[in-house]
Amino acid sequence: MKLFFGGVRGGYPVSDPAFRSVGMDTTSILIVGETDEAIIIDAGSGLRGVFEQLVTWLPELRTVLLCCSHFHLDHVAGLPAFKAWYDAAWTVEAASRIIGELTIEDVVTSMIQPPWWPLTLDQLPATKRFRILDDESLQAPSVYGGLTLRWCPLEHPGGSTAFRIDEPASGQAIVFASDLEWALADETRRDQLRALCAQPQPATLLIVDGQYDEETYEAHRGWGHSTWQEGIALAQATGVPEVKLTHHAPHLTDADAAAHEQRIQTAWPAATLARQGDIWTAGRPVTTT
Ligand SMILES: [Zn+2]
Ligand SMILES: [Zn+2]
Repeated sequence: MKLFFGGVRGGYPVSDPAFRSVGMDTTSILIVGETDEAIIIDAGSGLRGVFEQLVTWLPELRTVLLCCSHFHLDHVAGLPAFKAWYDAAWTVEAASRIIGELTIEDVVTSMIQPPWWPLTLDQLPATKRFRILDDESLQAPSVYGGLTLRWCPLEHPGGSTAFRIDEPASGQAIVFASDLEWALADETRRDQLRALCAQPQPATLLIVDGQYDEETYEAHRGWGHSTWQEGIALAQATGVPEVKLTHHAPHLTDADAAAHEQRIQTAWPAATLARQGDIWTAGRPVTTT
C-alpha cells in the first residue's frame, strides 16, 4: 500500500513561492493497494495532482473510489474539474456519509451545474456511481479489491468523517482523520476514533488534523480543528507508530512550517508534517515527487 499527498492545506489554496515546500493545494490524498486499486480521500484543489499521480502509478486503471470526509470547500473544490469525469472510459464511484442532510451525490450534482460550472454532471461522459456510507462500518468493513474500508464520525462543525483503509495482505493500515476538533469531542466520539486507530490492530500511519498548537488553539475554539499535541497523543494512546500532521493553515509559510516541525519532532520524532507531493510507503522513507 502506498500513499500520495496531493494537498494538505485547510481553508483555501494559496499561490506564492513562500508556500512551495508545504504545498499550495487543499486536502486530497491517494491510496493505492498492492493489487492496483485506488482510493482517493477528499477532493480539495489537490485532487488535480492526485489524478496525475494516479495515472502515473496505474496507467491502465479506469476505476476509482472517491471518499469525501465532509463538504467544506477545502475538501470538495476540486470536484468540478476532476479529469476522470470527462473521460468515458472511467468509472468514478463517489462515497460519503450523510453530512448535514446531504450526500456526495447532492454535492456533486449541485456543484457541477450553472451558475457554478458551465456543464452539468449529465454532460460528463464517465460512468458515475454514488454510495452512502452508513455508520455500521466498524462491525463490517467495506471491501474494495485488496483493501478494506471503515469510517467513523468526527467532531467538526457540520460533521466530518475519519477513514481507515486496511490492506490485509500486507498488514498495513492508514487512518485519515482531518477536520477534527478533539477538544470538543465527547467520549463516544473519542472512543470511536481510538477504536478506528487501534482495531483490529494499531494502524501503520495516522494522518491527523494538527492545524493548531496549544498556544493558538484557544483563539480558534469551535473552528473545527485540533492541536498537533492532540494528534500525537492519539497515536501514542492507540499504538500507531507514525503520525503525519495535516490540514495546515492557509497562512503557514515554509519558514513557519520548519519551526513548527522542529517543535513537533522534539515532542515525538515519529511525527512530521504532511507535505504536498510526499509519497509514503510503509517502512520506507518518504520521497517527494
Ligand atoms: Zn478542512
Ligand atoms: Zn471542515
